[in-house]
Amino acid sequence: MATRKILAGAQVVLPTGTVTDGRVTVEGTRIAGNAPAGAPADPHTDTLDLTGHWVVPGFVDLHNHGGGGASFTSGTVEDVLKGVHTHRLHGTTTLVASTVTGEMDFLAERAGLLSELAEQGDIAGIHFEGPFISPCRKGAHSESLLRHPDPADVRKLIDAARGRAKMLTLATELPGGLDSVRLLAEHGVIAAIGHTDATYEQTVEAIDAGATVATHLFNAMPGLGHRAPGPIAALLEDERITVELINDGTHLHPAALELAFHRAGAGRVAFITDAMDAAGFGDGRYMLGPLEVEVKDSVARLVEGGSIAGSTLTLDRAFKRSVTIDKISVEDTVRALCANPAALLGMADTVGSLEPGKDADLVVLDASFDLKGVMRKGEWVVEPS
Ligand SMILES: [Zn+2]
Repeated sequence: MATRKILAGAQVVLPTGTVTDGRVTVEGTRIAGNAPAGAPADPHTDTLDLTGHWVVPGFVDLHNHGGGGASFTSGTVEDVLKGVHTHRLHGTTTLVASTVTGEMDFLAERAGLLSELAEQGDIAGIHFEGPFISPCRKGAHSESLLRHPDPADVRKLIDAARGRAKMLTLATELPGGLDSVRLLAEHGVIAAIGHTDATYEQTVEAIDAGATVATHLFNAMPGLGHRAPGPIAALLEDERITVELINDGTHLHPAALELAFHRAGAGRVAFITDAMDAAGFGDGRYMLGPLEVEVKDSVARLVEGGSIAGSTLTLDRAFKRSVTIDKISVEDTVRALCANPAALLGMADTVGSLEPGKDADLVVLDASFDLKGVMRKGEWVVEPS
């Protein structure tokens, strides 16, 4: 019989609301129950008293380039696993590995390597960020390697990922952009609008063509103007779009985050890290694809030009910021970090909430919202002490 564990006494965040003095029962790799306390405890079960703590679902990161000193774009299999493990230590139990702009052949080769890790369940899939992005909004992507989104090239990456491509970020206003969006949608790959110089009207067209995600809303796109509302207004107003937000205090002013969160509503926001190698590791010099990055005081910038080059964020910090600084409720924070990205990835049957039958992926936080424990598929990655 599978081992049973009971987590008792905590405030447990469920889709229906928070249960005080809740009880989560884990059997093997799955959640077996989430009934409130009261039923007699099974004497043959391992019970952990988590009074004074929160139990929330494991975090789901849609957009993440690396961590622990390792890069998903250039590292070996061991490096990628080290990056994934680093983020697990910070509560991310489901992670989509993102690549940055590179040569087409190189990206196809990376897709092959990452698809094997996806097959093994180490990562949830692949997100291609670039090379089909706007030179005007390239951020930390290598300009000489950018190209227009030719559907044949998009198809090449989808094929190289062998069914494990989850998302592709592109500037949909470029030649071939709308056809590429349609192609992605047909193949069940999320078309994400980002690193874009599109107008409001061009963005609306891309959404009508099938785009469903805004890649790090506000960053690497034209600002919100009163006569030229640009992509931000189009992405925020459309119910079909989920907006990614990097809640690290560097990429977004808290007022911009608040504006987006309230306009889109808690059901349409996904907090992401957009993390690079230095996440969970430290300051220093790193490579982001072919470009050199200097990380100082946890802020990553290109050595040349000084563009922000990804973040060093982990999702446990995004959680704490959301609740303590942005004053977003714990329940809405859980939607943005767990349920919404899980649904977007088509994984809501297995992850994203603490319901019976789903994977036992959960995070234990103390009363100050600092991380105290992480469980993935029934095993403690970080055991609460
Ligand atoms: Zn990114």
